[in-house]
Amino acid sequence: MRDLFKQAKENSPCIIFHDEIDAVGRRRGGGFTTGGHDEREQTLNAILVEMDGFDANQQVIVIAATNRPDVLDPALTRPGRFDRQVAVQLPDIAGRKQILGVHAKKIKVGPDVDLERLAKGTPMFSGAELAALINEAALIAGMASKDFVEMADLEEARDKVRWGRANRSKQFEQAERELVAFHEAGHAMLQVVVPHADPLHKVTIIPRGQALGASMWLPDKDRAGQSRRYLEARMRVACGGRIAEQKHTGDISSGAAGDIQGATEIARAMVLQFGMSDRLGFVRYLDDDHQESFMPERAYSPETAKVIDEEIRRLIDEAYVDAKRIIDESWPKVEAIAKALLVYETLTADEVHRLIRGEPLGRPTVADLLSRELAAKSGSPAPTAANSTGQGDLEGPGAGAVPSPA
Ligand code: ZN
Repeated sequence: MRDLFKQAKENSPCIIFHDEIDAVGRRRGGGFTTGGHDEREQTLNAILVEMDGFDANQQVIVIAATNRPDVLDPALTRPGRFDRQVAVQLPDIAGRKQILGVHAKKIKVGPDVDLERLAKGTPMFSGAELAALINEAALIAGMASKDFVEMADLEEARDKVRWGRANRSKQFEQAERELVAFHEAGHAMLQVVVPHADPLHKVTIIPRGQALGASMWLPDKDRAGQSRRYLEARMRVACGGRIAEQKHTGDISSGAAGDIQGATEIARAMVLQFGMSDRLGFVRYLDDDHQESFMPERAYSPETAKVIDEEIRRLIDEAYVDAKRIIDESWPKVEAIAKALLVYETLTADEVHRLIRGEPLGRPTVADLLSRELAAKSGSPAPTAANSTGQGDLEGPGAGAVPSPA
């Protein structure tokens, strides 16, 4: 380790990259330390000592990667060490196509290989899994003594890689993706149409950490204070996921737990801290240690406690009813967003606005992709020059006002 850092300093500017940092960076101690861990701990200590020995103008950047940030020793993530965390998401369709392209350069591919179609068929694959897919396809083609890898090899490899990781693939069956897509579409719809809400940034059904999907918003400006209208808007947006989910599936899921927590916290703060309930007025009902209603000697009467509960309830109920009205009134648009999410996985705010206005997306529509796939299938036995005009005919009526030659 000492030698590595010495070399880095000699070659600066320089980047040191530790892959799988958890292999040496696991939390120390823990009561199970035995002789076998000594070497690991010495390595970890050496990293820490070397990183402390840097000064700002040495031009050496140290980067580490892990899938388990939760098991890392806290000393590693202290300021001056690995103090910036960058979460790398699973790639979306466009990302997967690019990653497949990088790895496909290392092998010989046949003329029928369509990486875009492969990218569409590999939702929730990580970069490492896409690399494994390409390797596996090369093995399959090699065993069949082919000169190059064909689409069928890639598809067989995809299934092998997918079933090789049972848990995740089971989790994300189509029904689950659909549920997440409608949930996020509900949030996105409200984020766009509820007055005073933060503007939508983008919406995705690619899982991030614990959440199954996410609709992301950017605060309009740095908000010093939060107005009542703004907080009410945030509660409405929070309700949208569950409402859209239920309207589509007829059932409800635990996926809204975070939204319920968020909405409840806002309503409580409005009533207890911000004086935003007209019935309770300009009074703080929160003890300094935030233990309000469970305090044995609280600063208010049982009658007031009842009003507090009623007011929290009322704020959330009003938000829910209003959010439901909006979702009901704009249901075809919510469906359009959800369906686009199922095809593209991530939508920008601009794309959501277009769908809400009933405009086509800038990228090929679902109909385009389907007709292209149909054309590819029907065209493959007879790949003649006439194929290209035939494809154009097929796309003509489907694509409507977009006469792009795709
Ligand atoms: Zn949600």
